[in-house]
Amino acid sequence: DENQRLSLRLIAYSGRQWLLVVRDVTQLMRLEQVRRDFVANVSHELRTPLTVVHGYLDMMEPADNPEWAPMVEEMRRQSQRMTQLVEDLLTLSRLEAQDHLPEESIGMASLLVTLRREAEAISQGRHEISVLDDAACDLFGSAKELHSAFSNLVSNAVRYTPNQGRVEVRFERTDNGGTRLSVKDSGYGIPAQHLPRITERFYRVSTSRSRESGGTGLGLSIVKHVLSLHQARLEIESEVGRGSTFACVFGPERTRPRNH
Ligand code: ADP
Repeated sequence: DENQRLSLRLIAYSGRQWLLVVRDVTQLMRLEQVRRDFVANVSHELRTPLTVVHGYLDMMEPADNPEWAPMVEEMRRQSQRMTQLVEDLLTLSRLEAQDHLPEESIGMASLLVTLRREAEAISQGRHEISVLDDAACDLFGSAKELHSAFSNLVSNAVRYTPNQGRVEVRFERTDNGGTRLSVKDSGYGIPAQHLPRITERFYRVSTSRSRESGGTGLGLSIVKHVLSLHQARLEIESEVGRGSTFACVFGPERTRPRNH
């Protein structure tokens, strides 16, 4: 029936023989939908109570009990973290539910300026930050979602690079007429065995460092989803102790002449 979902796989068997494997994945996809809806609903329901907690915490002035000050500060930090987590979960649910995004020509010159400002705000002068605009063209896609994907990569690069390290953002042409936005850092790097799973939700290399860094563990999942909605791919190169490069690679159909 039309609600049934099948997965087909054709496997070369031997000589001129082929094997066609048909699997009924209807139930699997239904479960996946239930999981998505559940995550989206829980996240949405958490928003209101969090806003209330956040609001009251902001009003608290522990002047009468100075010993409360560090506790209130910690509560603020944690509720901020939870808010970010909920926002990231909602972003992921929204991306999963879409099969295409509203698209427009994205002014890359000004987006790169914004990325530099964001990097500087997170770094607070602790890193050397450079932004190279070498492509002389613009991207075509969702400005909002691509901005959030690039911001995630820039934020990771700064957060996983020790003080005095370097972060370099570069927008350039590729050989086939497409473009590439890369974020390179001189940071901790990622051991090779973690790379295949690094874009999974909540997957983290070192829990303590990642927690300290203030992330939610959802950043790279968001990046991957946004790129796949643009038929683009994420390339990761990393060497422990030397740094990482995360590159978003776009096809020629995503390239537009730059408006001056
Ligand atoms: P998080 O919020 O933990 O940063 P992400 O999904 O953005 O979540 O990244 C997943 C994990 O990948 C991080 O916890 C970290 O271990 C690793 N990682 C991401 N970016 C970098 C980077 N530039 N350098 C080193 N490790 C990174």
